[in-house]
Amino acid sequence: SQPILEVRDLTVEYDTGDSPVVAVDKVDLEVHAGEFVGVVGESGCGKSTLLFAIAQLLSSPAAITGGSVVFQGQNLVAMSEKSLAALRWRDFSVVMQSAMNALNPVKSIGAQFRDAIMAHDEHVADDRPAEVMRLVGIDPIHLKSYPHQLSGGMRQRAMIAMALLFTPDLIIMDEPTSALDVVAQRSLMVQIKELQRQLGFAVIFVTHDMSLVSHFSDQLMVMYAGQVVELGATRAVFDHPAHPYSKGLLDAFPSIRGPKVPLTGIPGSPPNLAHPPSGCRFHPRCPEAFADCPKIEPELYQVGSVQARCLLHAPETAVAEPVKEATP
Ligand code: SF4
Ligand code: MG
Repeated sequence: SQPILEVRDLTVEYDTGDSPVVAVDKVDLEVHAGEFVGVVGESGCGKSTLLFAIAQLLSSPAAITGGSVVFQGQNLVAMSEKSLAALRWRDFSVVMQSAMNALNPVKSIGAQFRDAIMAHDEHVADDRPAEVMRLVGIDPIHLKSYPHQLSGGMRQRAMIAMALLFTPDLIIMDEPTSALDVVAQRSLMVQIKELQRQLGFAVIFVTHDMSLVSHFSDQLMVMYAGQVVELGATRAVFDHPAHPYSKGLLDAFPSIRGPKVPLTGIPGSPPNLAHPPSGCRFHPRCPEAFADCPKIEPELYQVGSVQARCLLHAPETAVAEPVKEATP
């Protein structure tokens, strides 16, 4: 089937006055109807910027400088703000990291739902706000509540309820559970997945916690330093990560279901994108780096059913010649 969202060569640059900083570098992504796509990486890897770019919510100094975002046949990058405003909430909605920042503190939840409805020339049944509150497991009595009167978990649920008002085909979520404790986080994930099964919307879910999303996503996209470093079916990436960065991310978080193991993580932090490392951008932190890594920029290579941006998987044997021990 045709994907509902096709991101091609999407590039975002920050204009810093000096040379522009490439925060998202030629990203490709396809999302099909009803699919759950996880986007993972440490903070500063470009995943939130990618999400904002897809939703056309970037603000200066960040701007899309290349590529396209075709949603249901229309290129959002070329669209007027007015046409985009008509699509947002109705056809796709965005759930931010902190509902506390996204919600208006001086308006009740119900008033904010009504504002969202009024902003669209679309018929919505009078009891729809109550209905979406029930869908996310909140008593509709809380439509009268103000954001600060709700717990963190309830606020995030209220944001998701608002995102569901028009039954969109795609919901874009930026770490919607990251402010919650582990138990609340897990229960919100289960609920999002259940709603998705029930209502059939597609999800793009950004998180720094690979183990959190791996139980819920169909596809997994791993980002490092503004680039996609691994992309494939979640099961495949999770069971046999092809990129050393994906392996590191998997080791950085305790498994929700698995036994408790010591966490190793990845020493160091993502590079300053104004001065990305030469060759493979991960080479200064990579436990598997070899002589070619600082010299050659890897592409995304097919590795079984997944794609990985690592020279260990480059088809040319000349690139990834194994180092032989000298025999005495
Ligand atoms: Fe590590 Fe080299 Fe692969 Fe980069 S190309 S991930 S440095 S092994
Ligand atoms: Mg972020």
